[in-house]
Amino acid sequence: MPSSNIVPTVTLNSGAEIPQLGFGVFRVDADEARRVVTDALEVGYRHIDTAAVYGNEQQVGEAIAASGVPRDELFITTKLWNDRQQSAEAAFDESLERLGLDYVDLYLIHWPAPKRDTYVEAWRSLEKIAESGRARSIGVSNFEREHLQRLFDETSIVPAVDQIELHPAFQQRDVTSFAREHGINIEAWGPLGQGKYNLLELPEVTSAAEAHGKTAAQVVIRWHLQSGNIIFPKSTHRERMAENFDVFDFELSRAELDAITALERGGRVASSPADVN
Ligand code: NAD
Repeated sequence: MPSSNIVPTVTLNSGAEIPQLGFGVFRVDADEARRVVTDALEVGYRHIDTAAVYGNEQQVGEAIAASGVPRDELFITTKLWNDRQQSAEAAFDESLERLGLDYVDLYLIHWPAPKRDTYVEAWRSLEKIAESGRARSIGVSNFEREHLQRLFDETSIVPAVDQIELHPAFQQRDVTSFAREHGINIEAWGPLGQGKYNLLELPEVTSAAEAHGKTAAQVVIRWHLQSGNIIFPKSTHRERMAENFDVFDFELSRAELDAITALERGGRVASSPADVN
């Protein structure tokens, strides 16, 4: 099995180290998830991002158990679904049970779901879970400035991460700079734009790919890594998993990075936090 120690780690505000490149399993069906995660671990990934709502925690756990990879070499994230914000400790126990683990590395509130107005209560439950040691770090996802500000004002622990939609067409500069000022790391979901726009065909990306003898996806992944984002691109195809992992033998120049950064156009490809409840 290839070593994964080529992946740089980022130190979270909890003191934990997270591999900056991992593997996500959104929209990986339960009947395929065990094979997909087994492939990802064989390719070398050691950081897996799942969620209760993905419906594949059990299969992710089975793949981990069967892999033989020591638990302390893995970084496992799962997330609290919106309808459990008022029963977060029970929901967390259920996730751990499905994963077959006695702790996760990172537990996130999946969405602020502001119409419910229960995310502050949920965060207090996550603080208790963190204090118990069963989540080594806790964080949030899809939180905007105002949601983060409420946690700062009303609770004690600063989230370790904010996991948000972020790719070249939609860089969320306001929330990323606000979060980083407060010591919160940014996890970029949909790092390849979920394949929903022509990101991998844009000349700013393809010219860099040509110059380095790499693929367009590898260039976009490098742009994220060199921008300080934590990412976990998804593919169910083993060759693409390997391609997305093979990004540590080249570096984009300042000009190449800047050209991709200039692709910002407010191009959200998925749901807005205000609308998800
Ligand atoms: P992504 O940007 O990783 O896109 C995945 C798609 O990109 C694939 O389905 C495939 O079509 C394409 N792709 C992957 N590798 C490729 C390659 N090498 N060449 C060409 N095309 C390639 O989108 P994602 O899966 O939505 O995001 C990654 C992870 O982020 C998810 O799996 C999940 O873990 C997490 N996520 C979190 C939230 C949240 O609300 N917190 C929402 C969505 C995703």
